[in-house]
Amino acid sequence: MSEKYDVIIIGSGPAGYVSAIRAAQLGLKTACIEKWKDADGKGVNGGTCLNVGCIPSKTLLDSSFKYHEAKEELGIHGISTSGVKIDIAAMLERKNKIIKQFTGGIAGLFKANGVTGLYGTGKLLNGKQVELTDNDGNVTVLDADNVILASGSLPIAIPVAPVDGDLIVDSTGALEIGEVPKRLGVIGAGVIGLELGSVWNRLGSEVVLLEAMEDFLAIMDKGIAKESKKIFTKQGLDIRLGARVTGTEIKGREVHVTYVMTDGSEKSEIFDKLIVCVGRRPFTEGLLAAESGVQLDERGSIFVNEQCATNVPGVYAIGDLVRGPMLAHKGSEEGVMVAEVIAGHKAQMNYDIVPNVIYTHPEVASVGQTEEQVKAAGEPYNVGSFPFAAIGRAVAANDTDGMVKIIAHADTDRILGCHIVGPSAADLVQQVAIAMEFGSSAEDLGMTVFSHPTLSEAVHEAALAVNGAAIHMPNRKRR
Ligand code: FAD
Ligand code: NAD
Repeated sequence: MSEKYDVIIIGSGPAGYVSAIRAAQLGLKTACIEKWKDADGKGVNGGTCLNVGCIPSKTLLDSSFKYHEAKEELGIHGISTSGVKIDIAAMLERKNKIIKQFTGGIAGLFKANGVTGLYGTGKLLNGKQVELTDNDGNVTVLDADNVILASGSLPIAIPVAPVDGDLIVDSTGALEIGEVPKRLGVIGAGVIGLELGSVWNRLGSEVVLLEAMEDFLAIMDKGIAKESKKIFTKQGLDIRLGARVTGTEIKGREVHVTYVMTDGSEKSEIFDKLIVCVGRRPFTEGLLAAESGVQLDERGSIFVNEQCATNVPGVYAIGDLVRGPMLAHKGSEEGVMVAEVIAGHKAQMNYDIVPNVIYTHPEVASVGQTEEQVKAAGEPYNVGSFPFAAIGRAVAANDTDGMVKIIAHADTDRILGCHIVGPSAADLVQQVAIAMEFGSSAEDLGMTVFSHPTLSEAVHEAALAVNGAAIHMPNRKRR
């Protein structure tokens, strides 16, 4: 008879490992199963986020930004640089070291909190039994009172651009490109396309993004998306909207790409490398035995309620595997919520306030509703915007592209959303997220004392502008 756990979690990405730690903190006997292996075939925790997602991509974004800054941006400060070079192998090596540091850190956290980390593949059987096939092929069946499915997501593959891992790569391959491609094509001008396109653009590639939709960053606030596109285009990203890829052909060491524009015209391009990043899909292969009884929704995600419970009592699902944005922090919060529910606490997550960031430079960040969503809901609202060009600290840093936009309900003044393109937008939007969590009005935020000189003064001024009270800019008439 195998050991019985209070909770078994399948998957140790940011959803699963955070949930495991919280469950163990709450006194639950917890095991977390992970099948990811590193280049040496050793089991490794952290999932997409730490191995091939958030952390490696931000590492390359930071390295490439420092190179670009040293080469192109420092002159204005009176700093002359010459002979600035990038060693791509060293840049990738640093990234790999950081991945190792963080994935290894999870094993340490598991130990410190008393989580049993198991390496292998987990499959949910009937009842709350989990079959574990370890990395040597040995099979055991584990029993649990509760099971949390956290197997994450995979890149979507499209038949017109089959990934070969060499000339045509997905987001994982794009983190391993060993030399700067002269011409880089990107299918999909979404989050990954913009982040990884920026990395290689800064390192010297000519980058063309082919985006099927007519709207740029369709889920973002329209005003911020428009401003962002202007900034990225100025930086050299060639963003072609309404461009649906119809075929790719490898000829020698080149990728020939054909695409159709919305008006029906056919076009083609030749690239040295092509990144396919057209979204991600839930990873359910091998996760559920037929008899598990767990239901999927029409998009192939595990069907869950607001508290991430599936249709099978005692079985939960969290993170990229379930509805909602595919973001590390959204999965982690769901993981905490579910651990607390299992431990008998009252827990819930506020899905209305989940910040979303694109880590380009400047960053694009948002929380809450867009102006279009508020308008569609028929709510009366006021908008306050403020440009970084009028912020002393941004001018001092020569980092003035972009603006902050805050939307508040016209009757209650309660903040409904904040959208930023600009320097440190990720950290600035978090200030508004906290304010929103406490039910702040734009006036409350406007009455808060902000340090001078800081970039966050743009948030302050935008909050004041909602009610026509911005100081360092003429105010628009209130609606
Ligand atoms: P995952 O991180 O995918 O983890 C799931 C784990 O489950 C994996 O380790 C997998 O091996 C394991 N698993 C699957 N099936 C089984 C099984 N049967 N048995 C055992 N183990 C199994 N999000 C952000 O919030 N910010 C960012 O900056 C950001 N950048 C990104 C950059 C890139 C290039 C990519 C690709 C993604 C990025 N994301 C970012 C998204 C983020 O990585 C995901 O939202 C997050 O990792 C999802 O967490 P998860 O735990 O649900 O799944
Ligand atoms: P995405 O949904 O952000 O963008 C994909 C884009 O590809 C869309 O604009 C879509 O219209 C376009 N597209 C789809 N099919 C196409 C086709 N055949 N031809 C041309 N364009 C096509 O997806 P992504 O960039 O692959 O990223 C996947 C997910 O990973 C994101 O949605 C996000 O949840 C997560 N992620 C988050 C971050 C972050 O938080 N900073 C970073 C990277 C990834």
